[in-house]
Amino acid sequence: MLKAYQAHVAERSAIQLPPLPLSAEQVAQVVELLKAPPAGEAETLLDLIANRTPAGVDQAAYVKAAFLADIAKGIAKSPLISPEKAVELLGTMLGGYNVQALVALLETPMAAHAVKALSSTILMFDAFHDVDVLMKAGNAHAKKLIESWANAEWFTNAPVLAKEIKMVVFKVDGETNTDDLSPAQDAWSRPDIPLHAKAMLINKMPDGLKLIDTLKQKGLPLAYVGDVVGTGSSRKSAINSVQWFMGNDIPNIPNKRTGGVILGAKIAPIFFNTAEDSGALPIQCDVSKLNMGDVIVIKPYEGKVLNEAGDVLSTFELNPVTMPDEVRAGGRIPLIIGRGLTSNARKALGLPETTAFIKAAPAVSSTKGYTLAQKMVGRACGLPEGVGVRPNTYCEPKATTVGSQDTTGGMTRDELKELACLGFSSDLVMQSFCHTAAYPKPVDIKLQHSLPEFMSSRGGVSLRPGDGVIHSWLNRLILPDTVGTGGDSHTRFPIGISFPAGSGLVAFAAATGAMPLDMPESVLVRFKGTMQPGITLRDLVNAIPYAAIQEGNLTVGKQGKKNVFNGRILEIEGLPDLKVEQAFEFADASAERSANGCTVLLNKEPVIEFLNSNIVLMQNMIENGYEDARTLQRRIENMQAWLAKPELLTPDADAEYAHVIEIDLNEIKEPLVACPNDPDDIKPLSAVVGDKIDEVFIGSCMTNIGHYRAAAKVLEGSGSIPTRLWIAPPTRMDEAQLRDEGVYSTFGVAGARTEIPGCSLCMGNQARVADKATVFSTSTRNFDNRMGKDARVYLGSAELAAVCAKLGRMPSHAEYLETVGNKLANTAEIYKYLNFDQMTEYKAALDTLSSGKKVIPIAEVV
Ligand code: SF4
Repeated sequence: MLKAYQAHVAERSAIQLPPLPLSAEQVAQVVELLKAPPAGEAETLLDLIANRTPAGVDQAAYVKAAFLADIAKGIAKSPLISPEKAVELLGTMLGGYNVQALVALLETPMAAHAVKALSSTILMFDAFHDVDVLMKAGNAHAKKLIESWANAEWFTNAPVLAKEIKMVVFKVDGETNTDDLSPAQDAWSRPDIPLHAKAMLINKMPDGLKLIDTLKQKGLPLAYVGDVVGTGSSRKSAINSVQWFMGNDIPNIPNKRTGGVILGAKIAPIFFNTAEDSGALPIQCDVSKLNMGDVIVIKPYEGKVLNEAGDVLSTFELNPVTMPDEVRAGGRIPLIIGRGLTSNARKALGLPETTAFIKAAPAVSSTKGYTLAQKMVGRACGLPEGVGVRPNTYCEPKATTVGSQDTTGGMTRDELKELACLGFSSDLVMQSFCHTAAYPKPVDIKLQHSLPEFMSSRGGVSLRPGDGVIHSWLNRLILPDTVGTGGDSHTRFPIGISFPAGSGLVAFAAATGAMPLDMPESVLVRFKGTMQPGITLRDLVNAIPYAAIQEGNLTVGKQGKKNVFNGRILEIEGLPDLKVEQAFEFADASAERSANGCTVLLNKEPVIEFLNSNIVLMQNMIENGYEDARTLQRRIENMQAWLAKPELLTPDADAEYAHVIEIDLNEIKEPLVACPNDPDDIKPLSAVVGDKIDEVFIGSCMTNIGHYRAAAKVLEGSGSIPTRLWIAPPTRMDEAQLRDEGVYSTFGVAGARTEIPGCSLCMGNQARVADKATVFSTSTRNFDNRMGKDARVYLGSAELAAVCAKLGRMPSHAEYLETVGNKLANTAEIYKYLNFDQMTEYKAALDTLSSGKKVIPIAEVV
């Protein structure tokens, strides 16, 4: 093995590259050699295991961690590695497979060494709870470790950002985009950072790397300087290359560097953030007086760039103000992760918040009150009760609930691996399979088989294909007034607030339990008056953009489009007695407004009802083998704790909103529909009377059980209908109940195509409507070609959908009213929601539990 390795080293050295990191197989061979080292190879073998093996959750790290753990426990022996040295080496592996081994050592004679090793480890995630349990059971070493984390020693032991940094300018005039730094034609080499770095600037500045070599001879680190830096697509590989030439080695981590300084008159935002996340120091400043090869002195705290003579060449403000902490921690992400660990440790010890870190920029000062969203985020940031986060403030709210659906789940999984995440810090992470359940491709099946274990082994809750739509489930598991996120733009919480995100941030929120957020402004929508006959909640959902159009704050045309909701939080008041399932219709549709999030102000009674029901649902999930049961159990207990003292946050009367829209229910007299093909193009029914409808879809996360009963009532007695009707209930619980009630028989008589619970036509990636069909749908959005090629799609209520299905055209308002008035009079029976705590079959499972078959220790349901 060593011979082959030396040949590889020589081969790479010939092209000025370090050897590749070891593979799992090579590490396994090194392990065997370490047990009985050949003469003269001791130093090489120690270097290979200590410095040339990848860390984190790589398979090679798994082999290394297992071997070192065995030595520490006395199970394996090496004449070159003592148990103490083995623990020390475990402590250099950043996080991942080493953590479990080190935590286990807290109960052995090696505990003191394990404490030292873990004190500087921040990628602890769920393993923190294991240490906490040990501490609470009286383990003094665990306590010492938690004290170290509470004192932020992982951070305070690292060098502070220097007051003066002497560097040599490497300047690229004009604009450098990420393709200049990481060319697309060399994309194949990106995983091999040193090799890929050889392609940096190959097109833009062919002699660039030679110049770098020459400048390095001055014996100072280089600063990357440019007029415009990092435009173009987001490429981590671009930062990797800059850091490879201008950054610092990371102890014990092969072929990867951190640090470095980038000075640019303009640094593209994504590149700036990626630099921050990777431990670099990006500074925006005038670079006109900085020239290639100049020796400069950067004074980050004073915001100055000087020449060697002490003349000021440029000034700047460090932004964000937390930048010195980010650099000290090795990047923005390690800082956020570490701060979370310190905060958890202090909480476990009953200590107040630490002062070790720089506080983010103070909020814009105002004496006004806070909106509901601002208070929710404030609570999630640990602010005093009732204090909110002002708009445009950077914050890191706790992400209590995180959702992941199947079409983004694979990417989220890969991001989680990068974060060495073996356990979630977010209180509840849920994975669904709603987008691919009905007609899976082989690749979907593979994911459906592998992802549940990946998620639940980290403490997540995995649903099963056929269970139903992510949001209809996730909303049943959320806690009131908490913050979360999800890898789906419709992750919106009806009794909390969710800020949906891409897979990277979702992974980060899941792994760390917090998310970075620039607090958006809020738009208040206040309903008043009385709902008119035949008007449904979906009409009120559509009334929001309709009202904005009327007042000129929303335009349908794309050129110079106005949208008062764009990037803001939609806060809804005036309908406090809605059931939580109903409130979600509003929250869900806020995605179509391009709003960043949504809150709905509810009374506590519907929330109490909802939580009591969901506790029983979760009990049933545990009983039916859903994993991770521990997470479900914890969420049950958190719900019970809320129910014991049921209080909801409310907005202050003098809260400030970017805009307020008042909607008088008395004035909404006929249904409102989103017309083909734009969810903003809202018109009253009378404007589209008679348009022929070919297909009708009743499904998606916008629906709940009441909609299906209502639709069936409208269809009753119709016999076969002139349209193709699709039915896809949001969850398997809805489907089972509707079957039990005989509702499905009405759909059957009508000739409906019933789909398994899930997204179905809403996503359009599975079954599709006919080309060019005109469709009436209850789903979320009607963008061109989403449901079918060249389809024209109306969006509106299930009640109107059923009338359209029956008539094969858009009805007149009078026809609609006649049908709805006659058929939907018994509203109490039709709009009855799934209260699992009152349903015999769900309660039966609880009875089984309490009868002793399988005891789950929960407090009594309040
Ligand atoms: S039903 Fe539609 S909007 Fe809802 S999660 Fe599925 S695809 Fe997204």
